[in-house]
Amino acid sequence: KAKSEGRGTYRFFEAKLGIQVRERRLLEHDLRHAIARGEMHLVYQPQTDVRTGATTGFEVLLRWQHAERGPISPALFIPIAEESGAILQIGEWVLREACREAAGWPNPLALAVNVSAVQVLAPHFVQMVHEVLFQTGLAAARLEIEITETALIRDPARAQSTLRQLKALGLRIAMDDFGTGYSSLSNLRTYPFDKIKIDGSFIRSVDGSEQTKAIVRSVLGLGRGLGLPVLAEGVETAAELRFLAEEQCEAAQGYLMGRPAPIEAFAQLTHGGRARDAAEPRGPEESR
Ligand code: C2E
Ligand code: MG
Ligand code: MG
Ligand code: MG
Repeated sequence: KAKSEGRGTYRFFEAKLGIQVRERRLLEHDLRHAIARGEMHLVYQPQTDVRTGATTGFEVLLRWQHAERGPISPALFIPIAEESGAILQIGEWVLREACREAAGWPNPLALAVNVSAVQVLAPHFVQMVHEVLFQTGLAAARLEIEITETALIRDPARAQSTLRQLKALGLRIAMDDFGTGYSSLSNLRTYPFDKIKIDGSFIRSVDGSEQTKAIVRSVLGLGRGLGLPVLAEGVETAAELRFLAEEQCEAAQGYLMGRPAPIEAFAQLTHGGRARDAAEPRGPEESR
């Protein structure tokens, strides 16, 4: 088929690829200066106890407002930052800023930070986390690190030992996007996870699909069997939350309970102040 489409198609394709490569290089370059230029900021999304409805903590999510291009999705720039190594500097900045913020919250509220496997596998990661906790005064028990399962397979032995050292600091480790990787089950056995986050793609098709319901139920059963709490990501409707409550899922997160927003939007919870209406516009959060 490719042949019958002729040379023109090939050239078009090649040209398109060229643009993508150039785009990538530009973004890679801009990423290195994004923090210094003040283009990065953090938003927070509540994590909820399904049984009580209480907010138990927040996941911090990185946002890049490019000076010329406007907002750029982390799904696009995080992989570029990982490849170029910029994630090391950016990730440390995220952790420090978020821990400083969380240190001022009332005690039971926890902070969840996404960490790239590139960071986990880099030298001195544990030391860096330790320093940030010390400098910001956040108790390790209030910090949870979220790691996407597939990311660790590049060096399982090193990842394993680093995760153990992190846990020795007193923090918890959540397996992010559970179910989307290729060896979720064996990863649960290999790494010392404290929590499972079911990927939002499962939750969003729970409505009406008996098959998806069965999958979510079995992940919840797996969590119970292993003694690990399960958090459901991407909860958007009351029906989804009801299903999760019926199935005794411990925790949930999603637009239904709260969109990612600057921390000021949650002032009532974090500082007993008045919440401001600062949630992100609907657009970017929905185009995942
Ligand atoms: P993630 O850690 O799995 O985060 C969940 C993503 O789902 C976030 O997208 C969040 O905004 C979005 N989301 C939350 N609730 C809902 C919902 O109800 N419906 C839908 N459709 N989406 C929902 P976001 O912020 O674009 O981040 C995408 C991914 O980028 C994250 O997935 C995480 O893997 C990565 N990421 C974000 N911030 C950081 C960071 O600071 N460091 C690292 N290493 N990765 C990050
Ligand atoms: Mg996450
Ligand atoms: Mg996730
Ligand atoms: Mg994800």
